[in-house]
Amino acid sequence: MRISGFDLAVVGAGIVGLAHALAAAKMGKRVVVIDRDPRANGASIRNFGFVTVTGQQRGEHWSLARRTRDIWESTAREVGIPIEQRGLIVTVRRAESVTVAEAFLNTEMGEGCQWLNRNRFHQLYPEIAAHDAVGALFSPHELRVESRTALPKLALWLAEAHGVTFLTETPVHSVVPPRLETSRGPVEAQAAIVCPGDDFHTLFPERIAAYRPRRCRLSMLRLASPGFRMPAPVMSDLSLARYAGYAELLEAETLRRRLAAEQPAHLANGVHLIAVQSADGSLVVGDSHHYDDLPQPFAPAEAETCILDEFARATGLSPPPVIERWVGTYGVADGRNYVIDAPSENVRIAIVTSGTGASTGFGIAEKTIADMFGRKVGGAA
Ligand SMILES: Cc1cc2nc3c(=O)[nH]c(=O)nc-3n(C[C@H](O)[C@H](O)[C@H](O)COP(=O)(O)OP(=O)(O)OC[C@H]3O[C@@H](n4cnc5c(N)ncnc54)[C@H](O)[C@@H]3O)c2cc1C
Repeated sequence: MRISGFDLAVVGAGIVGLAHALAAAKMGKRVVVIDRDPRANGASIRNFGFVTVTGQQRGEHWSLARRTRDIWESTAREVGIPIEQRGLIVTVRRAESVTVAEAFLNTEMGEGCQWLNRNRFHQLYPEIAAHDAVGALFSPHELRVESRTALPKLALWLAEAHGVTFLTETPVHSVVPPRLETSRGPVEAQAAIVCPGDDFHTLFPERIAAYRPRRCRLSMLRLASPGFRMPAPVMSDLSLARYAGYAELLEAETLRRRLAAEQPAHLANGVHLIAVQSADGSLVVGDSHHYDDLPQPFAPAEAETCILDEFARATGLSPPPVIERWVGTYGVADGRNYVIDAPSENVRIAIVTSGTGASTGFGIAEKTIADMFGRKVGGAA
């Protein structure tokens, strides 16, 4: 079978691949998306669906997150993807965390965010204010989608509204535009973007290896509904020492030392808290971070214990029963939030290496596609 006539082939139907397909389709390009699975099954449907702005690394990544949030907002409306939750509440139990939150609010990243002191926090959000909570950082910028249903909807809409062709159950073996070799035979496209998630070995292994990537495995839980609507996604003190937008502030060092003394098992398992809510009331709660070149499939029970412990401490709630467990993996590379590599003029490799693809993928894709078609392929940008 000969499959031809495309301006762009995108390898990978995760959020990063779909984001590139959308950016190119908006420019009027004829796009084919190729994935070896029948539908997205990797990090992009295993995540929280939490499009996070506040806490992303200061500078370019924070700006990319703001842009991505805006694209999610308009795209979700067009596609009919429900926004399950909005905003973010970082509950705080330590004076050192208050200092970090205040320092954050004094940066440009604090725009639109506010500090809720103890009284105000307990008054506004009594259902999630633990008795020892000293306040909370509130951000209005976030939104949350249910990734496992949002991704298939986005793919279907790209096909129907933008004429994007999807080739599923089709591993790609090589990419040399205008020809890609796949399990279904050659596909012809003038340019290609490889968005392989954390598969570093199938396509361009030497190019990817130059970034010395590793993989990170995360434990995730779904808890039964607590019986009320959470006002917003919730994070906690541990997040202020983990997310670069806070953790890279000088003030975070003292907090880190206190957490190391008080919650060593949480830090050893890379645990911090994200708790988001689905339409049926159930909660997606996580997560842990274990790094390896080949993450083991065995999720340590200690990580789950730490996640549930932090949920209880941060919200004052007894965790509802666990109704689902899963692990997910993504790629990481020291000192890089994402990699855009150009093996040749008309080929890019796009990998988000900071566990933030749902929050920054659309922004990254817009940039990459503009660069590629604006300058290199001569398309009508
Ligand atoms: C548990 C977990 C929670 C997370 N939470 C969040 C969150 O709340 N917010 C956030 O912003 N980010 C979050 N992340 C990170 C985010 O999910 C990832 O950054 C993002 O999904 C990466 O998308 P991707 O498209 O690159 O990869 P993937 O979703 O892994 O997709 C890659 C695709 O490429 C395909 N593929 C690879 N090689 C080939 C080939 N040779 N031929 C054909 N197909 C190929 C694969 O089959 C796969 O479908 C989380 C990640 C995990 C694991």
